[in-house]
Amino acid sequence: MENSEVCPKLEKCPIFREGVLMNSITGDSYKNVYCLRKRHLECKRFLVSKSYTKPIPTQVLPNSFMSIEEIIKRLKEGYWEK
Ligand code: SF4
Repeated sequence: MENSEVCPKLEKCPIFREGVLMNSITGDSYKNVYCLRKRHLECKRFLVSKSYTKPIPTQVLPNSFMSIEEIIKRLKEGYWEK
């Protein structure tokens, strides 16, 4: 049975695969805060991936201050490729 606590993007997401990016406020890594928990449902990368199918650069973080719409707009503009 599928574990709904864990993000379904784990295997391909560079934040999970490569990064143990530390969240300076909580001292936890994004993996432990988002990827391995039900809170992945709040991850901005996860939410963006529902309607944006291309790779999402690592600059887009799970707790980005931007809205989903703003992130998608910037992705389409190539904002993080400049
Ligand atoms: S960073 Fe977000 S999209 Fe990537 S694996 Fe973690 S919860 Fe899923």
